[in-house]
Amino acid sequence: MGNCIFCKIIKGEIPSDKVYEDEKVLAFRDINPEAPVHIIIIPKKHIISLNEVGEEDLELLSHILIVAGKIASEHKISKTGYRLVNNCGIDGGQTVPHLHFHLLGGRTLNWPPG
Ligand code: AMP
Ligand code: ZN
Repeated sequence: MGNCIFCKIIKGEIPSDKVYEDEKVLAFRDINPEAPVHIIIIPKKHIISLNEVGEEDLELLSHILIVAGKIASEHKISKTGYRLVNNCGIDGGQTVPHLHFHLLGGRTLNWPPG
């Protein structure tokens, strides 16, 4: 947790290009964008991955989904469409061990992701 990049972003110890913040959630632009809109949405609570999410996080997780929809709307990708992605663990391609969702849009995204 002390060495967690995303916790450092939450604390302001590492700069980020914030697009949304409330008491539970922070969203900022991905440093290495894969699409015209590529925003990382994280809970302020340090949860390593979806594997560590419990019933006590139900409200937090549903809040993140609502926030994702709002951010998509603010970035004008609601109508054209977008993807909300969670990478979990090694096979999922997770590189930062703090639960996060990628909001991707602004271009047609390929499927399957590979
Ligand atoms: P994942 O591979 O799913 O763990 O995604 C981690 C994402 O965080 C990658 O897309 C990175 O480009 C992004 N990322 C890592 N460090 C930063 C940072 N300091 N600011 C913004 N995005 C970051
Ligand atoms: Zn963290």
